[in-house]
Amino acid sequence: LSDTPDSDFLGFELLLDDEDRKLVERVREFMLTHVEPVINGFWTRAEFPHELVPGLADLGIAGLQYDGPGCPGRSSLLDGMVAMEMARVDASMQTFMGVHGGLAMGSVQLCGSDEQRERWLPAMARMELIGAFGLTEPEVGSGIAGGLATTARREGDEWVLDGEKKWIGNASFADLVVIWARDEADDQVKGFVVEKGAEGMTFDVTQDKIALRVVQNAEIHLAGVRVPEANRLQGASSFEDTAKVLKVTRMGVAWQATGCARGAYEHALRYTLERQQFGQPIAGFQLVQDLLVKMLSNVVASTAMCVRVSQLQDAGLVKDEHASLAKAFTTARMRETVGWAREVLGGNGILLEHHVGRFVADAEAIYSYEGTREINTLIVGRAITGESAFV
Ligand code: FAD
Repeated sequence: LSDTPDSDFLGFELLLDDEDRKLVERVREFMLTHVEPVINGFWTRAEFPHELVPGLADLGIAGLQYDGPGCPGRSSLLDGMVAMEMARVDASMQTFMGVHGGLAMGSVQLCGSDEQRERWLPAMARMELIGAFGLTEPEVGSGIAGGLATTARREGDEWVLDGEKKWIGNASFADLVVIWARDEADDQVKGFVVEKGAEGMTFDVTQDKIALRVVQNAEIHLAGVRVPEANRLQGASSFEDTAKVLKVTRMGVAWQATGCARGAYEHALRYTLERQQFGQPIAGFQLVQDLLVKMLSNVVASTAMCVRVSQLQDAGLVKDEHASLAKAFTTARMRETVGWAREVLGGNGILLEHHVGRFVADAEAIYSYEGTREINTLIVGRAITGESAFV
């Protein structure tokens, strides 16, 4: 373990082999060299840096833990560490990858047929095709399993989709949008891969967000969109199949939250060593050290939980409540941590140029998506008591 201050305080990266560690280092290098210097500008303008996509593609991290055709097929632990590494510099870019490589590729990998995996995954892994995942609707978020209103009606070899989706990341420029809709015949939720340019599918890009401003979220309007049966995900016959994808990606968000906390802590630590007040670095004050140690504790505890749940995932033992515990815990710790980081930066904590302000804002979205803290808490509560608090 290094003697220098390092936020990998307990050496979790030592759990990776050399090849995996090299990938984490390449991702770190990419994020520090190509993303950190420009990201505040994109965040302010609420623009997505499309020019960075080829560099991300070269890293070979899209769908990292999936072993479908053309996919990297690496471990869930590595996938998580890479997500943390990205979010440590910028959560928006990690969200873009989480939507494409986690949710959209995961839908094809976990709910598609062999033919569908062959058709889409290699190009998605190369990031020649970008994906989006359309589940949430304007009138229903947390209660989506029972309340999903978008409909799918079969007509011969085609399906007709009607409805509205909200908050869908990447949707406005994605090549493939996975739309979850309720089959009018059997009332079950099914997944459909809708290709870019499909007639009847239009978007309104979400404006004026105060978090993850780089991510392009959109409302999707589906008016009689025709999708061939060949594009219906053949392995998705009810919401339980959708939930299989969410179980995997929820862990990605837990890792993302840990990365966001870690990045904020690191900025704060550096700042306290440089900033002088009362003739000495503020890092020397006991009350500042208290906040730094509390931040570090949150980062270490969150990493430990994520490592263990990812190991369970790699062993095929993970349950919904494990991923939910990690998501609820790490996002709560992240919210505390970014607040403390901002606090030790004083007034500079609200200036974008010091980065921590962006982490504070982005944390608010991470806290609420992929299941809010309440919903993930209730999933764990149901598992430990046997009593469901869901109505
Ligand atoms: P609501 O469900 O309306 O919840 C409001 C509040 O009520 C929350 O605090 C919630 O915890 C609480 N609540 C609800 N039910 C209960 C209960 N039973 N008990 C206690 N409290 C409860 N969705 C996609 O499909 N694809 C995407 O790409 C995507 N990207 C997103 C990106 C961003 C930046 C954001 C903000 C959201 C994104 N979402 C996406 C949607 C996201 O998953 C939802 O916002 C989330 O599930 C919460 O739903 P909601 O916002 O409708 O809140």
